[in-house]
Amino acid sequence: MSKIMAVNAGSSSLKFKLFEMPEEKVICSGIADRIGHEDAIFAIKPAGKEKNETICSIPDHAVAVEMLLEALIDEGIVSSLDEIKGVGHRIVQGGAYFSHSEIFDKKVEEKIESLIPLAPLHNGAHLIGYRAFRDALPNVKNVAVFDTAFHQTMEPEDYMYACPYEYYEKYAVRRYGAHGTSHLYLSQKAEAYLKEGSKRRVISCHIGSGASLCAIKDGKCVATSMGLTPLAGVMMGTRTGDIDGSVMPYLVKQTGKDAETIYQEFNKKSGLLGISGVSNDTRDIEKAASEGNERAILATKMFARRVADYIGQYFVRLGGCDLIVFSAGIGENSEYFRKKILEQCSEALGLVIDQELNNVTIKGKEGLISTSESKIPVVVIPTDEEVMIARDVVSLVKPK
Ligand code: ADP
Repeated sequence: MSKIMAVNAGSSSLKFKLFEMPEEKVICSGIADRIGHEDAIFAIKPAGKEKNETICSIPDHAVAVEMLLEALIDEGIVSSLDEIKGVGHRIVQGGAYFSHSEIFDKKVEEKIESLIPLAPLHNGAHLIGYRAFRDALPNVKNVAVFDTAFHQTMEPEDYMYACPYEYYEKYAVRRYGAHGTSHLYLSQKAEAYLKEGSKRRVISCHIGSGASLCAIKDGKCVATSMGLTPLAGVMMGTRTGDIDGSVMPYLVKQTGKDAETIYQEFNKKSGLLGISGVSNDTRDIEKAASEGNERAILATKMFARRVADYIGQYFVRLGGCDLIVFSAGIGENSEYFRKKILEQCSEALGLVIDQELNNVTIKGKEGLISTSESKIPVVVIPTDEEVMIARDVVSLVKPK
């Protein structure tokens, strides 16, 4: 039995989950949020106990890690920090360097650093998180787990952009995808729902506040909707998804704003929020739509159509489909959005949804939401990126 920490460090937050492995039992989870502020939040929840939350100053990630390690002792979660046998870090951008997780060393660190221009909001923060753990627990191995790794099996015709080739050669401009750790988890769980002898063609829909779809054949990614960055693909909570590249220079000219400002708006003020003007949260949008808010209704229709369009595209890309999977915040919880998306593809794909199952398969429940007449079974599977991180730490670090 070994304790393994899974970490997701963002620019101002550090989420963590401690596992007992190989049992995959969650011992505690928590977050240091608003790092860099006087009124930052540190919250830790030991399994089966109340959450313990403190508001205090957390100047940087190193302090957040110190607080976390102290809390593990204070809460009696570990009696010594030596019990922690490995730490796994979510890394958003692994570029073309990484098709698997790797134990951190100088070279891995340098490669992740070199990819900061491709993921400015993420990779820098991940490294700060890694360095804080490396310094606080110098005898413990750290593992980098990449969101892009699962998508490295795409063929060039799937990942290349049709822009001048030198941009690919000189600047590595291409599709990398994201949410790969989740899509891999979903593809493994999907095996239990695939009929024996099926062609194992899966379309997985990770739709939360960030959303991506993945076409998976024989457990390998063949196509995915996110691109160079997580801005591409389907419409999201606050992101545009796919958009004509000309919109950017056109808006720069028309508004007098600079490209960076427009880009931030594409990332943070668009999507469900931008269209509805209500919220980026589907719960608020469902409510506003049910009250007749026209823009909220349009936002639900656009979102459903964009996801359905990708399902159609991947049906063709895979030469058919043996299973459709829904996951993440919206995919796991919103029977309303699942219904709207599936309505858009049911005629073409012969889908038949069991409305009762669709209504009850929420809040962490797993199971089929289609009837036996459906040409393609549709299933809801709650994702678990952290357990995948912990598994990779165990397989690379081999704790005794
Ligand atoms: P991310 O991990 O990308 O931040 P999540 O996968 O947690 O996002 O998804 C969060 C989104 O899921 C919310 O913004 C909301 O739109 C949607 N959602 C719908 N119902 C629920 C629910 N019951 N609980 C949580 N999120 C929900």
